[in-house]
Amino acid sequence: MTEIHGRREPPFSLTAEFLRKYDVPGPRYTSYPPAPHFRTGWSQEDLEQLIVRSNGTGDRNLSFYVHIPFCPKQCLFCGCTTEIGKPGSAVLDYFQVLDREMDRILPLLDRSRPVSQIHFGGGTPNAAPVKFLAQVIQRLLAGRALSPHAEIAIECDPNLITLPKLADLRQAGFNRISFGLQDFDLDVLSRVNRPFPRISPAELISQSHALGFTGVNLDLIYGLPGQTRESFLQTVQRTLEASPDRVATFSYAHVPWAKDHQKSLESKGLPDAETKIGIAVDTFAGFVAGGYHPIGMDHYAKPDDELARAQDTGELHRNFQGYCSKRTTGQVVGFGASAISQLHEGYIQNVKESAAYGQIVVSGNLPVERAYILSREERFDREAINSVMCRGELDLSRIGASEGFSAPQARERLAPGLNRLGPFLADGLCTFDGTVLRATSQGRFAVRNIAFLFDPLLGVGEGRYSRTV
Ligand code: SF4
Repeated sequence: MTEIHGRREPPFSLTAEFLRKYDVPGPRYTSYPPAPHFRTGWSQEDLEQLIVRSNGTGDRNLSFYVHIPFCPKQCLFCGCTTEIGKPGSAVLDYFQVLDREMDRILPLLDRSRPVSQIHFGGGTPNAAPVKFLAQVIQRLLAGRALSPHAEIAIECDPNLITLPKLADLRQAGFNRISFGLQDFDLDVLSRVNRPFPRISPAELISQSHALGFTGVNLDLIYGLPGQTRESFLQTVQRTLEASPDRVATFSYAHVPWAKDHQKSLESKGLPDAETKIGIAVDTFAGFVAGGYHPIGMDHYAKPDDELARAQDTGELHRNFQGYCSKRTTGQVVGFGASAISQLHEGYIQNVKESAAYGQIVVSGNLPVERAYILSREERFDREAINSVMCRGELDLSRIGASEGFSAPQARERLAPGLNRLGPFLADGLCTFDGTVLRATSQGRFAVRNIAFLFDPLLGVGEGRYSRTV
């Protein structure tokens, strides 16, 4: 039996049949509404007010996201917002602009709000000098308290880490680290222009633990050229031996019309759809047999890791950085090109290109490309979708209470989705006793499909989402 939120459930094996049926295109709900719904046309004052209102509504905790959009070389699978091969002077200029953006935004946020997370993403943040990263951390924390269990996290290209640099990152205040390994197979890595780390992943992970990093994560990608079910099983096995606290297994999204460099992978042996499904099934079985808890459909965590415990206690949360624990995240304020702020009442996405971002910031304006302000009804919908996605549960007696919805009002708003539950109940993916909907252990791998039922915006702008596998 498996324990889910204190309930005992029969164990579940992910099968190819299950994936074929439920892996349909749709949002991943790292935000609600999803980013394709963000739009232009907001005034600077609208958005400043949105940031100021976050002081009095929603979670008090602050999470800061800092985007560093530079990489030394181009990985051919990359779907991130980044710029390749910029000189050191451009990186220095960028950090100066970040400082100007912080000048503009930080005074809008109450000093009394505790900081529960600072997350550096990219791009390759670890390619930047550690002293620049440390200065950003000090600036974000000046006059503010860190909450207990606060995370200061960095996404790293493991090929650009040395042991002294790892120690410097820890010294600068980082306590979480994620290594984007992608695969252990040298042939696969060479096909996608990604070198194997000079320090073995197992050593990087053990040294990270020795320095006091927790929640040490390894990213893998499946669907890359040259991968087979057998080769990826080897990668799963070597990951288990390296023993990270968490593993994220992303499905490669091939979108050459949006990312030119991906086109070249078409002649390098991309696996077919059935192979990808087979890899997903094997990966799930491999990590579960290795003692990891599945988090969502493609993340895994050791049972004593914060993420696994958050899932067990119903404290799992989801934002643009992926799964996180409610205890260590809050309303997210983003800095840097393409960064997204995720506030209680809305979202603000910065312009993506670093030069344009810099010009706008230096002119004294907010560098905003698109934004979204949620109505009270949309905040209700977000709460319902997050409850399904993160806790596998929807309790009609409580949902929406924080937005002033009575139980009958909540029931009325959710009725269109509840009326379409039949096939999910028949397939054993969830139970519904008239008040509480609960995903079963099997249904936890189809929570997106269940969440789709309660998304009134689904179908608006169809075809803009990829499959999960
Ligand atoms: S290091 Fe990451 S962000 Fe940079 S090119 Fe490679 S995949 Fe993209």
